[in-house]
Amino acid sequence: MKQYQPLYLKYRPQKLSELIGQEVVTKTLSNAITYNKIVHAYLFCGPRGTGKTSTARILAKSLNCEKGTTIDPCGKCVSCVSITQGNSLDVIEIDAASHRKVEDAEDLINRVNLGTYGSRFKIYIIDEVHMLTDHAFNALLKTLEEPPKNVIFILATTEEYKVIPTIISRCQKLDFKPVFQNDLEKRINYIAAQEKINIDETIIKFISKRSRGCLRDAVSLLDQISVLQEENKVIEPKEVFELFGTVDRTILFKLVSAVLTFSREESINLAEDLVKSGKDIAELYKNLLELIIDLAKAKIDSKYKKELSQELNNDLAVLNKIEHNHFLKIIDRLQDSQTKLRFALSQELQFMVEIMSMIDEDFLVSTTDLQKRIEKLEGRNSEPAVGRIGDTAKGQENVTMVKRKSEEQNVISASQHISESTNAMEHADTPARRYADTTDLDMLWKNIIGLIESNPTKTLLMQSESYLISLSEDVVEIGVSKDMFLPRLEHDTKKKEMILNSAKQASGKEPKIIKYRFLPRKLEQNSFESTPAVKTNDSEDGNFSSEAKISYKSKIEESSFQSDDLTGAIKNLLGAKEID
Ligand SMILES: [Zn+2]
Repeated sequence: MKQYQPLYLKYRPQKLSELIGQEVVTKTLSNAITYNKIVHAYLFCGPRGTGKTSTARILAKSLNCEKGTTIDPCGKCVSCVSITQGNSLDVIEIDAASHRKVEDAEDLINRVNLGTYGSRFKIYIIDEVHMLTDHAFNALLKTLEEPPKNVIFILATTEEYKVIPTIISRCQKLDFKPVFQNDLEKRINYIAAQEKINIDETIIKFISKRSRGCLRDAVSLLDQISVLQEENKVIEPKEVFELFGTVDRTILFKLVSAVLTFSREESINLAEDLVKSGKDIAELYKNLLELIIDLAKAKIDSKYKKELSQELNNDLAVLNKIEHNHFLKIIDRLQDSQTKLRFALSQELQFMVEIMSMIDEDFLVSTTDLQKRIEKLEGRNSEPAVGRIGDTAKGQENVTMVKRKSEEQNVISASQHISESTNAMEHADTPARRYADTTDLDMLWKNIIGLIESNPTKTLLMQSESYLISLSEDVVEIGVSKDMFLPRLEHDTKKKEMILNSAKQASGKEPKIIKYRFLPRKLEQNSFESTPAVKTNDSEDGNFSSEAKISYKSKIEESSFQSDDLTGAIKNLLGAKEID
């Protein structure tokens, strides 16, 4: 039995003219070969799966083909065949991502000065060149400074900004672009026809969308879909969606329409059906976001609207009633929620909560926009700076604060809002818990940010929805609501220094260390306003996220959550809001 060859290998381009969607690269290299203007080092930059390695091999073949240097290598001579098979002695491929040992670098230097094994050129293809060790990088740099005759380097990287400028300046740089959807679709159509895979327009669109400009992914998807092929049958979109756990877009559209028009009962029912069908929630978020972005695009692009209208089998009249801002709000909300998904105790529950919040009549009037936050931080807002940044006015009315003199501990301590429910007050009486006036901390934080001179640092602190947990003689403890910003804050000593300086000026204390804690403030605040997620001890383990989870969990337990009674659980969770 003949071994199955993956389609992406079988349909790998073999000459420059076969490259898909890289016109500039094709033209530049073709001209260089035709007019004998090959340079000794190329740098191929661009996202994965756009043809960098394939192009490097094609270039190698074009230069070393036994028929002579040509844009049309024969593909049959010893040189061409050995390059295709990856065993040419004169074409050395190094994947820096998987070979990061020092020996490789030394090997590289040693072999550079040896002659070729009969080919015109000795060609080095170094993939993911930004991942070379410092040692190897230096060796490469030295070689590039005085390249031996007949040696050509083809460097490739997905992360150009990590390649040092001295390397870039010694290479001719070529940019590989994500492949356009149209080009992807044409290619998929072609391969499907060659392979007798019967798929319709919907599936082709599905493939091109899902692969996001990565040709290799697109062809691999087609490969996976081909297993559904039975003789004399057309593959149904439904089968494909099931194979990938993707939600049928026409069903998803019903949910989005219901949410956009605040049809509460319909939204809940549709969302519940989706959850019950056992769809992967992360995939569901992804699909939902894609569709909403498509709809937002259709609202301003009439040509695209026609296309989408056909796909969804709906006239999309609903779009006329929706403000653009409404889309942005939902996209923002879903993205935010998506990043928190992995911390959720129940992803299904979180999904339902998000849907509930988006059909809440207050959804569009909430004051949590970045703009409002900036105004507040800059003091332009006339509202008293009580409570947390981003609090809704409604939230503030419901909040009472238990105060405690911070001087007693010489620490301005972490503070939380507590609702007036007796339950919360009981918690507050527990000796291990401590509260203080949030005004102190938020005012202080506002001042600290105000004193920072660097705008990027200010913006980063605001984007990450940071807030002050405590400030003592030694330590500034900063809460961060969005964990995606955490690495950028934690690994930047310059930013830390600036924050420390401002903290010193603003507080009169002499803190020396900054500690960041990932503790989403919004999670407890917006979704579970009555839950006092309280720091229960003073230990330095900083296990805040688990505390956030505990409060989440207890809330779920209180509402006696059962998967078959999602709506009931959600109602309990959100304070038994009536759904009309
Ligand atoms: Zn050849």
